[in-house]
Amino acid sequence: MRYPTILTVLLAACAPASPPSTTPTTETPAASPDASHEWGYMGPGAPTEWASLSPEFADCAQGQFQSPIDLRPIAMADVDMLDTRYQPDVLRIVDNGHTVQVNHNAQSTLMVGDHEFRLLQYHLHSPSEHTESGARHQLELHLVHQDEHGNYAVVAVFIDEGPDDHDSPLWHHLPQRGDHDAHVFEGEPVDPTTLLPSSLTHYQYHGSLTTPPCTETVTWNVLATPITMSADHIAEFRTLYAANARPVQPRPQWCLAPHLVGEPGA
Ligand SMILES: [Zn+2]
Repeated sequence: MRYPTILTVLLAACAPASPPSTTPTTETPAASPDASHEWGYMGPGAPTEWASLSPEFADCAQGQFQSPIDLRPIAMADVDMLDTRYQPDVLRIVDNGHTVQVNHNAQSTLMVGDHEFRLLQYHLHSPSEHTESGARHQLELHLVHQDEHGNYAVVAVFIDEGPDDHDSPLWHHLPQRGDHDAHVFEGEPVDPTTLLPSSLTHYQYHGSLTTPPCTETVTWNVLATPITMSADHIAEFRTLYAANARPVQPRPQWCLAPHLVGEPGA
């Protein structure tokens, strides 16, 4: 459904971090930190060099709808409403060398309008990748979904320091530094819904993965309402990844068509 509403604007697209990986049922070695292409966030593999690391990464430099972008409250538009239908799943967590990722196997879906996507995984960036009028949040959570045709929809949630009102087993089982094995906690069901704010008002735009290969098949839905987390939890994640955010990408003027949608009555 399309819902004409209010508030803000935005542009391109962010990136679903790492491609979905199959979920191990037991502890298994995780994929090495991209052994074929040493991309990262600083040094020879920094974001400005991604396209030079592999022909498959060409979109990182040549794409026209790259993410993340700076979000600015400007316009109003018709945007597809979101409806999350998440189920609890056992906690499957891995430090994949680029971020901490939770792989999700339960039948959890996201409706973007009348288009269905399935939740594959979620992960964190520090600081936030998207900005709002140039300002960054402390962390950004990406819930990565895919439809039957391989298109992505990412729900991005900004995280600021504050009351720990969105606690999750995720924060209590962060891998130790240097541990890239996948870990499964059978007795720790985690419901991704607990990581969402009460309002799903969001910025929506077409963009890309924010990691190589920077594929431009992503519908970005950046929630306007941040969640909060304790300073300790933020610090714990930053001991693993203090800087794993791709810089904001330029957008051609003609595609600056941001939308921000509110919930009915919001
Ligand atoms: Zn991401």
